[in-house]
Amino acid sequence: MASQPDCLFCRIVAGEVPATVVRETADTLAFRDINPQAPTHVLVVPREHYPNVGDLAAADPELTAKLLTEAAAVAADDGVDERGYRIVFNTGAGAGQSVFHTHAHVLGGRSLTWPPG
Ligand code: 5GP
Ligand code: ZN
Repeated sequence: MASQPDCLFCRIVAGEVPATVVRETADTLAFRDINPQAPTHVLVVPREHYPNVGDLAAADPELTAKLLTEAAAVAADDGVDERGYRIVFNTGAGAGQSVFHTHAHVLGGRSLTWPPG
């Protein structure tokens, strides 16, 4: 989908809003969450705007795979891959999604038990 002028992550992709970028490819951008919930908390986004991961997967499976590959690379770069990390896609406001541009949360560097408690 076309870039949305009022979308925060479209604006980060465009360089209009600053972010701490850790990885970038032609199709994706990875940057640190402004309010980290773990020592590693990175958001990986497709440069193209899709509101949520289901929409992205339906429209572009290849880009979805690239997003997940980059999420794994972020975990490896931060050295959290051996201990284990979590990839989260909050989908819908009721599940905590607040930015409606698909993003993978990559969380690691602390104990991550499931269910949380
Ligand atoms: P959601 O709640 O939609 O799953 O995740 C949105 C995430 O974006 C939140 O974890 C929030 O801390 C993060 N966030 C919100 N605004 C900004 C910002 O301006 N810069 C960065 N780097 N992260 C942001
Ligand atoms: Zn967007």
